[in-house]
Amino acid sequence: MARNVVQFQKGLSEPAFDRQYGTEEQCRAVVIGLRWPDGFRCPACGGREHSMVTTRDLFQCRACRRQTSPIAGTIFASTKLALRTWFRAIYHLTQSKQGISSIELGRRLGVTQTTAWTVKHKLKQVMMERNATKPLTGRVEIDDAYLGGERSGGKLAETRSVCGWGEAHQARRRSSLPSRRRRRASRFASSSAASQASAVHPSPALPSAASIPD
Ligand SMILES: [Zn+2]
Repeated sequence: MARNVVQFQKGLSEPAFDRQYGTEEQCRAVVIGLRWPDGFRCPACGGREHSMVTTRDLFQCRACRRQTSPIAGTIFASTKLALRTWFRAIYHLTQSKQGISSIELGRRLGVTQTTAWTVKHKLKQVMMERNATKPLTGRVEIDDAYLGGERSGGKLAETRSVCGWGEAHQARRRSSLPSRRRRRASRFASSSAASQASAVHPSPALPSAASIPD
């Protein structure tokens, strides 16, 4: 069988990532390169001549003297996090197929879970917006689809099962509650492939991106 090229792609190792994006200067150079691929251009007058305001890390246009930050207008703009931390977050977020929880991301970045959550959601938002501009075409196959899933019961559910009424109670809840998962599933149901999957596996316990906690 032919090897799946996507599954076996080489990716970027952690040491390689550190070499390329390990310092603030490297990350800043990448952002500047992406923002102005042909060199600085003043957003106000379009001028190219500029000087640097080194104390505040700004570009100043020689024509209109407007000062511009390379991260203004990007998702990096309104946070105090170093670009290096943002790049590391991008790396962790994109390395595993299952994604990463904000708790784990915070641990790896050395920031609070709240910060990690914000970073993660901003990154996911821009990923989604970029993807939205590129609709899928041709034959579309869905792998690792996830609809429904395991219900976390905790100790209470175990007790109920032991008492003999847990199963029935759970079944009643499943049928009567319009849970978040059900609503989520109904959103997917517009795709015919998803509705087929839902008919075949009403509550599969397959792991997937949708099951990753925030
Ligand atoms: Zn200008």
